Amino acid sequence: MNQGSQHLGMGARIGIGFILVLILMVALGATGLRYVAEANERLKNIAQNNNVKTELATQMHSALRERALSMHTLPILGDAFEKDLEIQHFNSQGIVYIEARERLGRMPLSPEEARILKYIRELTVEAHPKVQKVVEMSMFTDDQAKIFELIRSVAMPRQRAIADQVSALLDLQRQQTAAAVRAAENSYVGVRNLMLGLGSSALLIGIAIAGYVSRRVAGQALQLANQAMYDPLTGLANRSLLHDRIEREIERSRRSGVSFGVALMDLDRFKEVNDTLGHNVGDELLREVGRRLKHTIRAEDTVARLGGDEYVVVIHGLEPEGVPVIAEKVLAALDDPFHWQNQSIDLGASLGISLYPSQCADASGLIRCADIAMYVAKRSGKGYAVYAPDQVHTNRSDLSLKSELREAILSNQLCLYYQPQINHRSQRVVGLEALIRWHHPQRGFLGPDSFIPLAEEAGLIGPLTQWVLKTALKQLAVLRREGHALTMAVNLSARNLHDMSLPGSVEALLAECGVPPEHLTLEITESAVMSNPSDGLTILTALDRMGVTLSIDDFGTGYSSLAYLKRLPVDELKIDKSFVMDMEANDNDAVIVRSTIDLAHNLGLKVVAEGVESRDAWDTLSILGCDTSQGFFMGRPMPVDKLQTWLRDSTLSPILAGAIYAL
Ligand code: C2E
Ligand code: MG
Ligand code: MG
Repeated sequence: MNQGSQHLGMGARIGIGFILVLILMVALGATGLRYVAEANERLKNIAQNNNVKTELATQMHSALRERALSMHTLPILGDAFEKDLEIQHFNSQGIVYIEARERLGRMPLSPEEARILKYIRELTVEAHPKVQKVVEMSMFTDDQAKIFELIRSVAMPRQRAIADQVSALLDLQRQQTAAAVRAAENSYVGVRNLMLGLGSSALLIGIAIAGYVSRRVAGQALQLANQAMYDPLTGLANRSLLHDRIEREIERSRRSGVSFGVALMDLDRFKEVNDTLGHNVGDELLREVGRRLKHTIRAEDTVARLGGDEYVVVIHGLEPEGVPVIAEKVLAALDDPFHWQNQSIDLGASLGISLYPSQCADASGLIRCADIAMYVAKRSGKGYAVYAPDQVHTNRSDLSLKSELREAILSNQLCLYYQPQINHRSQRVVGLEALIRWHHPQRGFLGPDSFIPLAEEAGLIGPLTQWVLKTALKQLAVLRREGHALTMAVNLSARNLHDMSLPGSVEALLAECGVPPEHLTLEITESAVMSNPSDGLTILTALDRMGVTLSIDDFGTGYSSLAYLKRLPVDELKIDKSFVMDMEANDNDAVIVRSTIDLAHNLGLKVVAEGVESRDAWDTLSILGCDTSQGFFMGRPMPVDKLQTWLRDSTLSPILAGAIYAL
């Protein structure tokens, strides 16, 4: 719609631009033509007037000549009749002269012409009686010599003076005509230059408009092509360009026999980061991942983003034996932590690879196969997996798992295992953590990692948490009635901290099961707290006011600081098992465990360690002042019946003896 209106705008602008140029050209043409017509008209007037004036002056000139001839003829004519005829001719030429002169006097004259004509008139007035006298003498006297003498000395000089002036008039008129023609020519040249100048300006404007418009159109076309082919966030190829590139690789591979691979990468913790730190940071991370991938691969390979946190790399010339090297290289691109403000963020990824030629024959098939392999990689936690045909159902199973989960909550396929938490000082069990399991009718026994993320995606985490809370609290009530003074820890998911009804329902369940609030611990991962700081804080505050114990789970794996957590109403920290398990072998982890315990105590928080798998770990934690621990060394998560045996045994002897028994 937007692009459509842009096109319309551009079309309209082109049209308007060219109409303007056209109008300009038409206006120019009209102005130029009018100008030339005016110049023509002026020239015509000048030419016509001058022609008439020249004609009249010429008439005067020839009349003078005729009269001079008559003057010379008269004395030599003997016959009176012939003389008479000659006199008549002489007089008629005089009339011709006078008429011509008078008509000339009425014409539009230049000042110079008027002056000359006036002078001619004066000369004529002065010459007339003298010439007349000579003519009369020729009539009555036969003394030819005297008459000719008079003609030569009196009449002719005057006649000549008049003729000279008439000639001067004719010259002037010639000059005026020439000047008028020159002026007309000049004005033609002026008009021509003006027309040429304005015409070329219009042309230039036209060319400029055309250039501007075509550049804009080309720019927009490029932009549209980019939009159609590239992911706006990262600038990487998008799904449709990816399809093109894969199809091209297939063509190339068919001709040359060189195989290639399609690697689909899914970031492991992106959703969490996005929920926790916000979309802007999430977007920046996605861009950075794109940049790193581009740096990792060769120029001839393609990196595309499918959307969300999924990337695809098309690797030219990839053979099955080359997969480990490439996969490690691509995954290594994410090894360096990402930095945001002063925090460093670790993003893992899972990579699924499909190869061509194989069972995946076309672009969509290759992407689908890589997707299936990626799920296998995610499940196995091995980082990457190559597509094998028997993985076909893995991906689809997620879909069915989601719908089956809905059913499972209602039909009691879910159950809780309980892991004991032991106090270091008393060496007695003080609490239990409820950990969910799924007895799937077909797939068997499933751990929470394989379905909790699906429950979150499917929007089922609310009912699931309700079920866990209710079951765990009922169980706790039973155990407490049996005389076990225990607390019960239940895990919350990030999504639960978006649910403002949670405190109300927790309160109702506590009341329903008859459990005092301080016997319930709710565990939230540190990233979950930060995913929704305002709602999260409201919910945690309400739970805290109720008297429920709040615990930060998996502490140390996220990016929150203790200083930040201090502002939250939490009572307890659970050090992530990865630090505890490696504590003996890895000094860094030992330092983290030690300083976490110290800092937490300084902030008035209790510390729980998870993942205690050995006596050494237990002892070290005791020395470091850890309050409570849980782990396989003391007790694995177990179903209710086993738990009851375990609890009975643990009350009989201190926990460490029991732990060895449990292992
Ligand atoms: P978590 O809350 O950190 O739970 C501790 C996990 O560490 C449990 O895994 C437990 O079996 C395991 N663990 C305990 N001691 C040891 C040990 O010594 N060594 C080793 N290697 N592991 C130990 P589990 O039961 O697979 O649970 C995994 C995660 O699933 C839990 O981590 C928790 O985040 C989540 N989860 C479990 N139940 C629920 C639930 O009801 N609701 C929600 N939202 N999440 C749950
Ligand atoms: Mg937990
Ligand atoms: Mg944990």
